[in-house]
Amino acid sequence: MTTEPSFRESVDIMFNQAVKLMDLSPGLEEKIRVCNSTYTVRFGVRLRGKIHTFTGYRSVHSEQMEPVKGGIRFSMGVEQDEVEALAALMTYKCALVQAPFGGSKGGLHIDPREWDAHEMEMITRRFAYELIKRDLINPSQNVPAPDMGTGEREMAWIVDQYRRMNTTDINAAACVTGKPINAGGIQGRVEATGRGVQYALKEFCRYDEDKAKAGLTGTLKKKQVIVQGLGNVGYHAAKFVSEEDGANIVAVIERDGAVVNPDGLNIELLKEHIIMTGGVKDFMGGEYVEDGASVLEMDCDILIPAALEGVINLTNADRIKANLIIEAANGPITAGADQVLLKNGVVIIPDLYANAGGVTVSYFEWVKNLSHIRFGRMQRRQEESRHQLLLDELQRLSEDSSIKWQLSDKFKEKYLRGADELELVRSGLDDTMRDAYQSMRKVWHSRDDVPDLRTAAFLVSIERVAASYRSKGL
Ligand code: NAD
Repeated sequence: MTTEPSFRESVDIMFNQAVKLMDLSPGLEEKIRVCNSTYTVRFGVRLRGKIHTFTGYRSVHSEQMEPVKGGIRFSMGVEQDEVEALAALMTYKCALVQAPFGGSKGGLHIDPREWDAHEMEMITRRFAYELIKRDLINPSQNVPAPDMGTGEREMAWIVDQYRRMNTTDINAAACVTGKPINAGGIQGRVEATGRGVQYALKEFCRYDEDKAKAGLTGTLKKKQVIVQGLGNVGYHAAKFVSEEDGANIVAVIERDGAVVNPDGLNIELLKEHIIMTGGVKDFMGGEYVEDGASVLEMDCDILIPAALEGVINLTNADRIKANLIIEAANGPITAGADQVLLKNGVVIIPDLYANAGGVTVSYFEWVKNLSHIRFGRMQRRQEESRHQLLLDELQRLSEDSSIKWQLSDKFKEKYLRGADELELVRSGLDDTMRDAYQSMRKVWHSRDDVPDLRTAAFLVSIERVAASYRSKGL
């Protein structure tokens, strides 16, 4: 029996498959592959009358561009290998979407559900303190973001902790991204990763040749979609593709099982149910299935794993029936399963592209923090007055001419409105996702030795990272 590689080995295998097709010097190849450093910290926090010791990590995979960037994860699955694999993915992800950062990742071995909000604040601040004093959180060196088990709340504590320790740093807000708006965040960051998954799917659907490889036609409308994990990424992706693009979310898999409805689940109601009860069981809008993992194998057009790594592996890969899998989570398909799916004709939109929406909007947030002004503040009203000028002139011409015509109120309202920050962020994200997809597909279709989008994505990324190292004289 073939043994399953670990997550980190899987990332290395995928990297090696791509570099085999490149002409890199062996030394440079090794330099790009290895993780530069991993800092492990064990710290104590007095809680519930005794000292509890927690273990945290911050790994830096590459520093060819600084700051380095990558989320902080709070989960019981966190360990050194996982953090290093995720840091490596960040390097390739940033290169692919041309966000000017090196790759990093952090994590704390903890189950956040076991602690109340005040306790979580004490733990998060203490972890942040340990990282800040070693410049592993710093606006110009290392900028974390949310990941599994963390969100705006944790980022707000971290930025506040940084400010307390660096009272004169004018760029303090840029030390972390994914903050709430009132703490220096940006519109559209919470939805960004799920929004990016939607944009990625829409871009894929623009190419008949790519859809044909997956045996699909048309747009997302009425496509049967299964989502695993209705957290930040899964919820937003499911909500947008169902509410805006007309896809049918036929099943959602969560920790406690799955809920299935061939006519499509109402994602908003299901999310409310999960928040209220902690799981999908007893949701009235669909049928409950206790063995959640089995639902990954149900018939569907598109499978969106958006929970954790390694869920599609050698034990189930052969039974996956989806035509297209978009890796919203990091590393949901092991290297072994990847080969099985490729053989079975399943098209995979790889994680380093599919979930890059988060880091893309984090990049916008970091730029906003450094420029100390919200996007659109200078131009918005000026844009509106120029549009008004044009409409007034058209109106005057119509009055002077023999043919009378009238612009509809709906058109006028839409045309007159200057773009606000949210619209600009979405536009920048859409542009980034489209551009990155095109760079991957160009390689995928132009070379016979590139079997899939993942290899193409690695080729594009590694070439950019290599160019960056070469320009430093390596
Ligand atoms: P999250 O904690 O908000 O959500 C994770 C969801 O998965 C939760 O609803 C949880 O209950 C569910 N889950 C956990 N174990 C499960 C299991 N065994 N079966 C089914 N569901 C399970 O996390 P998130 O931020 O949405 O991250 C999810 C994935 O996306 C991770 O791989 C993360 O690295 C990746 N990612 C997140 C971001 C981001 O901006 N948050 C960016 C890029 C990539």
